[in-house]
Amino acid sequence: MVAILRHGVSDAQIESLCNWFRAKGLDTHVSKGEYQTIIGLIGDTSKIDTDLLEGLDIIESATRVSEPFKSANRKFHPEDSVIEIGGAVKIGGGAFAIMAGPCSVENASQITEVARAVKAGGADILRGGAFKPRTSPYDFQGLRGEGIELLLEAKKETGLPIVTEIMDAHHLSLFENVDVIQVGARNMQNFELLKELGHTNKPILLKRGLANTLKELLMSAEYIMAGGNGNVILCERGIRTFETYTRNTLDLAAVPMLKELSHLPVIVDPSHATGRARLVRPMALAAAAAGADGIMIEVHNDPANALCDGAQSLNPQQFAEVAAAVRRVREAL
Ligand code: PEP
Ligand code: MN
Repeated sequence: MVAILRHGVSDAQIESLCNWFRAKGLDTHVSKGEYQTIIGLIGDTSKIDTDLLEGLDIIESATRVSEPFKSANRKFHPEDSVIEIGGAVKIGGGAFAIMAGPCSVENASQITEVARAVKAGGADILRGGAFKPRTSPYDFQGLRGEGIELLLEAKKETGLPIVTEIMDAHHLSLFENVDVIQVGARNMQNFELLKELGHTNKPILLKRGLANTLKELLMSAEYIMAGGNGNVILCERGIRTFETYTRNTLDLAAVPMLKELSHLPVIVDPSHATGRARLVRPMALAAAAAGADGIMIEVHNDPANALCDGAQSLNPQQFAEVAAAVRRVREAL
C-alpha cells in the first residue's frame, strides 16, 4: 500500500504516522520528493482500511499496490534513481553510461590494451570477468583474484571505474576496490548472495536470468534493496527462447516496462543477448532508442583468439563506431 501525503506535512507528523503504521506491524518506506512525500507500507496491509487513511487530514490518497516489490517500485519513489559510480560517472535520471571491455580478463597486456582502447572509444566504465560462470568446467574459469588485481591496474592507468562479476559471497573481500559488482544471469536468484550484497553500499549490476520474468528480476533487486543497498542497476541481457540463430532473444520491451515499474536504471547488454558481433550495433542503437540508461558491450583486442565469447566481441574500432552512433541516437531522442 502507498499513502501519498498532503503538501506541507511536517517531519513530526510523518514520524508519528510512521509510528502508528509500525505499531500495526508494518515497515515503512518514506520517499520525500520535491513536491510530494509518499509512504510505502511493507507487510500485511490487509487489515488497513484505505478509507480510514484517506479520512486523515495529512493523507491525500491511499492505494493498494499488488506488486510484491516495494523498494524497487516506482509508485513509492516516482523519481528515477541515479547511481553514482566511482565518483565521476552517473547512471539513470538522464545520465547514460557505456560499459565496455572483454568477456574475461586474460592477462595484463590484454586488459590494459582493451582498457585504453575502450576509453579512447568512448566507454565510461571498464568491464572484465575475473570469476567466470562457464557451462563447462573444462573451459577457462577466469583469473579470479588475479583478474581483479589486473582490472585495478587498468583502472589506475585509465581512470575508468570497473565492473566485474561476483559468483560467491565468500569472495566479497576481493571486491573492495571494485566500483560496480555484477551479479550474472546465472546467479540472479542466488538469494544468499543477493542478501550479502544488500549489506554493502556498492552499486550492483543485476543481470536478468536466462529464464526469468521481469517480476522475478525486480524481486531479486528487492533482496538487495531490502538489506539497505539501493544502488541497483538492472540489466536486460536476453532470455532463452526457441530461437537458435541468436544466442538469446533480446527482450527490448523489458526496458520501458522495467522503467515504468521501477525507478532503478536499466541497461542492455547486446553482446550476450545476440552472441554475434554483427548484431551488437543494431541492438545497441535499439536499446538507446528504447530508453535504456546504458549499455554493456564486450570488446576484445583480438576477438578471434579470445578465451571466451570471441564471436560476440567487437574490436576496439568497431566499438568506437558503435559508441559514437549510440550517443547520436541519444541526442536524437
Ligand atoms: C558476463 O557479463 O560476462 C556474463 C557472463 O553475462 P551473463 O551473466 O549475462 O551471461
Ligand atoms: Mn561474455
